[in-house]
This record gives sequence, structure tokens and C-alpha cells, in this order.
Amino acid sequence: MDQHDTTDVAIIGAGPSGAAAASWLVRAGYRVRVLERSHFPRFSIGESLLPQCMPYLDACGLLAAAEAGDFQPKNGAAFCRGEAYASIDFRDKFSPGPGTTWQVERADFDQRLIDAARAAGADVDFGVTVTDFRADARQPQLDYTTDGGERGTLSARFVLDASGYGRVLARLEALDKPSSLPTRGALFTHVEDRIEAAEHDREKILIGVHPRHADVWYWLIPFRHGRASVGVVASAKVLAAAGADDDERLWTLINEEPRYARLLKDATAVRDVQRLQGYSADITRLHGPGYAVLGNAGEFLDPVFSSGVTIALDSAVRAAPLVARQLEGENVDWHDAFEQPLRRGVATFREFVDAWYDGRLPRIIFHPAQPARVKEMIASVLAGYAWDATNPFVAASRRRLNSLAERCALDAEVTDP
Ligand code: FAD
Repeated sequence: MDQHDTTDVAIIGAGPSGAAAASWLVRAGYRVRVLERSHFPRFSIGESLLPQCMPYLDACGLLAAAEAGDFQPKNGAAFCRGEAYASIDFRDKFSPGPGTTWQVERADFDQRLIDAARAAGADVDFGVTVTDFRADARQPQLDYTTDGGERGTLSARFVLDASGYGRVLARLEALDKPSSLPTRGALFTHVEDRIEAAEHDREKILIGVHPRHADVWYWLIPFRHGRASVGVVASAKVLAAAGADDDERLWTLINEEPRYARLLKDATAVRDVQRLQGYSADITRLHGPGYAVLGNAGEFLDPVFSSGVTIALDSAVRAAPLVARQLEGENVDWHDAFEQPLRRGVATFREFVDAWYDGRLPRIIFHPAQPARVKEMIASVLAGYAWDATNPFVAASRRRLNSLAERCALDAEVTDP
């Protein structure tokens, strides 16, 4: 006979958003059960965090567990395009809050977070795939299958979908909505980087721009112990033209960017090259009767500003107290209290992503003499403080980015007529 269990809160997926919500809710006294399809530790992309993650981890009781990972410290983002180089230090930012964070191997990071949630009392089942869902305001239900082929049903008082690219409820509740962003693909691997160059700052992600294709960009994310994550993002057409297989394509494109070619000349890969394509996704709504959707299971924009884990944690920290209020019998307006404020920060990132790909943001970033106050405001958004409406680049992102990019273009015309 199929197993039938009950809990207060069922969570689909044990990535950062699932672990954060589980940790918050179990510490608040609720029974929490997390169902995770894979077995940890498992590889995941999404390795460069933003400082805004730190208060979120703290709010869920997970900061100490992450600190114990002794991850590579990160204090900003550097950008290169040909010989042009610009560096943004997150510690010089407009918004209050931490200015540093980490670059993490996600297999280890995610394991630490879910272990801490478990230590706090959450039940976590690995090798359990959620296959079906019945929405209900009082008793939503999940069906699942274990690796061993056993089937079961879990009844909860509330369900959080933290299934990331699994997008469980988006699929089962027909909430999927195409992203407004064009389809791009990423090729990536981990390397022993053997970078000796003094010019390289290991405490920053390095984002490079392809010399001929302005919308093709690279990441270099240094880890501890001489390892790094390296990847390239491009259209399927550019990727296909770069070689016969993904390994050749990644290294061909890396070698076309002079600084990347120089930095990575002695690097050796320690993982097979992996490809992710069409990862940008959206959803019609982030909540329904007895459920809410967290992190990547909802909307995912684009990796260029490393906003994924920040948004995932923001959604968990926002949703968990609302779940608690609902379980205490309050009537929660999920649209006003969860979806709208969450989407406001996502919209800030979207403006920055759009401005990156249409050339406005590179113009701003590579401008040699940006006023300090403006740099601080941009640093704030890039550090993840995308919900701080006192920052003019949050409150009116598009208008501010437009006028600043125009000014930078005029400056460039004056200095280089
Ligand atoms: P996930 O971390 O994806 O966790 C979801 C979990 O749910 C998984 O463990 C999965 O096994 C489980 N699951 C799925 N389906 C089921 C099911 N049916 N039943 C049970 N369990 C299930 N973000 C950053 O912050 N920094 C970066 O540098 C960065 N770089 C990126 C580069 C690329 C190319 C891409 C595509 C994304 C990048 N991201 C980055 C985004 C980042 O990967 C995600 O935003 C982040 O992992 C989302 O966390 P999550 O908790 O929502 O989901």
C-alpha cells in the first residue's frame, strides 16, 4: 500500500530556497518535510553569491553553517573588455548591510544549508521525486516516488515549491510563462586555474565581454585552493559556430578573449564541460490555494549579475513568516505581501540585465570617471540590494540607467570625437 504521511509544511527541493524556508519554519516550531529528488552533495551552478545573501542566511539561522564552509571571500565584481578593466567594490555601496560574501562550490554550500535545517529539526528525504500535486487552501497534497520505486502521498497544511529548474508547480499547475529574455545557453566547467597574475583579484567575480560579440560574456569565479568556475554565455548560434563539441566551444571562446586567454593559459579542467540552455523562465503567479513558489521554481532571469541565489533566499525569507501567519489562522494576502514585493526586486535586476545586453550598462561600467555617489548606487544593486527603494537606481532603474548611459556616451564623444 502507498505510504500516506502528514506534516505542517511540505517543501519540494533542498536547494538554497528550500533549505532557507525549512530552517526558518522549523525554528518557528512547525513540522517541516523536505522532499529532494537528488542525493546530496550534488553539483549545481550558481556559485557567486551577493552580499545581500548574508542577512537572509542570518534570518533563517543558516549563517553560521555557511561560515563554517570557509568559502572564498568575495567583495565585488570586475569587468573586462579587451584591455579595458573596471572594478566595483561592494563595500563602497549606497545601501546599508554587508559588503562582502563568498564564492561557493554549491555541492558543499547546499549540503551545509540543508544539514543545518535538518539539525534544527526538519525532516529531509533525498532520492524522492514529487510527481503530482493537488492544490487546496487547507490541505494541499503531494504525490512522490522514491528512487526505490515506492510511491507515497504527503498531506500538508502548506506547500512551498523550491524545485528550481524542476519547476514542479509551474508544470503541474500550468503556471509556466515564457521569459521576456531571449534564449541563451551557457557552457561551463571547474578548473585548477594556476593563475599567478598579480592583475587577478580572487575576491571578485570577473565578467568578460567577447571582443566581437557584445552579447557574449564570460565568468571567472575563483574558489579556495586554486580552483575556479569558468563559463561562457551566448546564443545557440554563436555556441554552435565555436567548435565541434562543447569542450572545444568553451575553450575556443575563452581563447578569443585576451585577458581570459592570458589568465587561463595553464588551467586544467577538473569536470566535464556542461551545458545549460533556455534557463530563463517566468510564471503567471507565485502562489495559489495552499502553496507558494520560491526561487528558480518561479522566475529566473539571467546569470549575468549572479542574482539567482539572492532572489531564492529573498523569496524564502519573505514566504516563511507568511506561511507561519497563515498556519496561525490569519488571512494572508499572498499577492500583496509576497509576490508584489518579491517581484519589485526582480524587476530591478531585470532592468540591469536588459541594460547589460543592450550596451547601456557596459557603457556605464567602463566609463573611466563615474561620480563616486553614482558608483555606490550601482554597486548596491550589483551587491544584491535590489529592494532598497531609497536607492534611485532601484526606485527608477530604467530612467536612471538611461540618463546615465546617455551622459557616458556624450562624454565618450567629447573625449574621442
Ligand atoms: P535549486 O538550487 O535549483 O534547487 C532545487 C532543488 O529541487 C534541486 O536540488 C533539485 O534536485 C530539486 N528538485 C527538482 N525537481 C524536483 C522534484 N520533482 N521533486 C523533488 N525535488 C526536486 N546564481 C547566483 O546566485 N550566482 C551565480 O553565479 C549564478 N550563476 C548561474 C549561472 C548559470 C549559467 C545559470 C543558469 C544560473 C546561475 N545562477 C546563479 C542561478 C542559480 O543557479 C539559481 O538561481 C539557484 O540555484 C536557485 O536556487 P533554488 O533553491 O531556487 O533552486
